[in-house]
Amino acid sequence: MLKGIAASNGIAIGKVYKMESPKIEISMEVTGTEEERLQVFRNALAKTVSDIEAVKERASVNLSAEELAIFDAHLMMANDPEFASQIEEMIRSGLNADKAAKDVADMMIGMFESMEDAYFKERAADIKDVSYRLLCNILGLTIPDLTAIDEEVVIVANDLTPSDTAQLNKKYTLGFITEIGGRTSHSAIMARSLEIPAVVGCTGIMENVKSGDCVIMDAIEGKVILSPSEEEVKEYTAKKEAFLAEREALKVLKDAKSVTTDGHEVELAGNIGGPKDVEGVLNNGGEGVGLFRTEFLYMNSENDFPSEEEQFEAYKAVLEGMGGKKVVVRTLDIGGDKKLNYFTFPEEMNPFLGYRAIRFCLDRRDVFRTQLRALARASVYGKLCIMFPMIATVDEFKTAKALYEEEKAKLLAEGIAVSDDVQIGMMVEIPAAAVLADQFAKYADFFSIGTNDLIQYSMAADRMSEKVSYLYQPLNPSLLRLIKSTIDGAHKHGKWTGMCGEMAGDAMAAPVLLGLGLDEFSMSATSILNTRKIVRSLSYADMKELAEKALQLDCEADVAELVRETLK
Ligand code: PEP
Ligand code: MG
Repeated sequence: MLKGIAASNGIAIGKVYKMESPKIEISMEVTGTEEERLQVFRNALAKTVSDIEAVKERASVNLSAEELAIFDAHLMMANDPEFASQIEEMIRSGLNADKAAKDVADMMIGMFESMEDAYFKERAADIKDVSYRLLCNILGLTIPDLTAIDEEVVIVANDLTPSDTAQLNKKYTLGFITEIGGRTSHSAIMARSLEIPAVVGCTGIMENVKSGDCVIMDAIEGKVILSPSEEEVKEYTAKKEAFLAEREALKVLKDAKSVTTDGHEVELAGNIGGPKDVEGVLNNGGEGVGLFRTEFLYMNSENDFPSEEEQFEAYKAVLEGMGGKKVVVRTLDIGGDKKLNYFTFPEEMNPFLGYRAIRFCLDRRDVFRTQLRALARASVYGKLCIMFPMIATVDEFKTAKALYEEEKAKLLAEGIAVSDDVQIGMMVEIPAAAVLADQFAKYADFFSIGTNDLIQYSMAADRMSEKVSYLYQPLNPSLLRLIKSTIDGAHKHGKWTGMCGEMAGDAMAAPVLLGLGLDEFSMSATSILNTRKIVRSLSYADMKELAEKALQLDCEADVAELVRETLK
């Protein structure tokens, strides 16, 4: 059995599909005649073209025309006569096909990467992709292809990138297991929004399974059982059925209020990555959207930052889809582990502490203003709240808000309607902002606590590293004090505080957060009904007492013990 982190609840039993990108080893020894070496290259190139066409064809089931454009760019590259003739020339000068292809590709990648223009930089990524495929074909290596899966499988990978997850066919994906990553890594967040069971940070999984092996993944407790016995399969089939039945039973709470036994009401909302996720929030009884991560619009865009029009359509679709319920849209949170095809971030020692989120937006105001304009235009289609990510200083917040006001004024002057009822708030995910919350609350309409980052920054523990994942401690009293400071700071000025980090949907944290006075909890849609059940079973007065006690404890384990005792 292997241990991992339960990132998206559920149980899956099935055959492994192992996603392993082959390693390229270039042969230095020249083999075959010139004609034979040329033939190896020509055959591999023809296969590369037909492979890309086949992937495009299969991906067209899941992806939009725009998302498919990447394959056209790859085809153009593979069919480029200049690319082929340069490689052939190198082969004629005495190199093997693989060495020649690698040298030409490296030279072109270097050339495009050094160009300023975003369009040319992006061509470098295309060449990397195409030449990797070509080299695999020259060397007879097979590249895994998620779109080719046509039977139910458990996907095992080192990690899944956002573009890998975009290619997943939900119908055939029983679940996925990754070697690296934590509860708040992006593959984990995607798994929850797709409602696919996932175990991440499962050290040793890549070494210990091969495609076709049978596994049981328990993404409730975070374990993976390799080559299970018949008994184990029986036991876990029953556990899976019980889990699904419990999920079904919670549906009766879909339209119920999120209110404690003594009448204290809170709001339970859902986190989304785009218009497609609205349905899941509504089906799970979400009372609003507490976090719309707009970076996916930017990450899915192939050639350039998404236009004002594209963004406007997406924001409008979400606001209309939510039918007048509150929607909190977070402005672009890019950088750190989130990259763009068409923009190269500076090399930094610590990208999570560097040029990201609001820091990037306040620097690239052209990009930021486009988003603010699209949001202002969409504001008339529902109840919009806008929040800025990674705010560290009052000045940053004031500047960002002033830019929104400027764009709004310009639109009004152009005769375009903008709602007067838009709340402008901020995420609290940097300890400096949590400590100074009472000052921020003079200017911000609301806070939303991003515990994924707040924990990473207060514990100085990289959220992507499973080696230090033991420091992800939502119930640590130090974090609870930062949360209290944030909520109290807001309440002092009559403002509200939500939480949109993963902690908001954590059953063990709910009683304490309730007691600390959190007003809104925003989480993966699938956690909403269970949280509602918990809220409805507790007394606010008792939870206030519990929170007071928790704040005075030494460590997370003591808080967890106190919560367990109280819930008993
Ligand atoms: C957070 O940091 O808690 C958060 C919600 O933002 P993200 O996970 O997208 O960084
Ligand atoms: Mg964050």
